Amino acid sequence: MPQLSGSCHCGQVHVAIRTNVEPAAIVLRECQCGFCRRHGAKTFADPAGEASISGTERLTRYRFGQATADFLLCSRCGVYVAAVIEHESRHFATINAAGLQIPLLATRSATPVSYEGEDAEARRQRRLDRWMPVVLNEDRGAARA
Ligand SMILES: [Zn+2]
Repeated sequence: MPQLSGSCHCGQVHVAIRTNVEPAAIVLRECQCGFCRRHGAKTFADPAGEASISGTERLTRYRFGQATADFLLCSRCGVYVAAVIEHESRHFATINAAGLQIPLLATRSATPVSYEGEDAEARRQRRLDRWMPVVLNEDRGAARA
């Protein structure tokens, strides 16, 4: 599978995404919540692909609102990297293409979306449907590809 990749501003957190979707066909979402707007986030996920995040020991996890996902921020430069949920021992994420400056994606315009009014169960189901499998790696575990 072709691979996209990016990193936070200071470079201590890296993300690689495997997807068969052409970059031009990837839909970027611009969530209208206060957190995403403050970060200028443009997020995407391919449920049929897979992402990996390395340097996870250097991430701060932030929860707000219904506290149903972990928003991962670089502990040094503050970039919003991805949001993650856990389900049956697996992790699923939406990736912030703008924060990671992923080539071909970061500068594209995104579709505004609002999830206001969604209850916790609807939110969980939407994320399980649309987010992508993600593997979280500490740098020290470099042997785990
Ligand atoms: Zn950083």
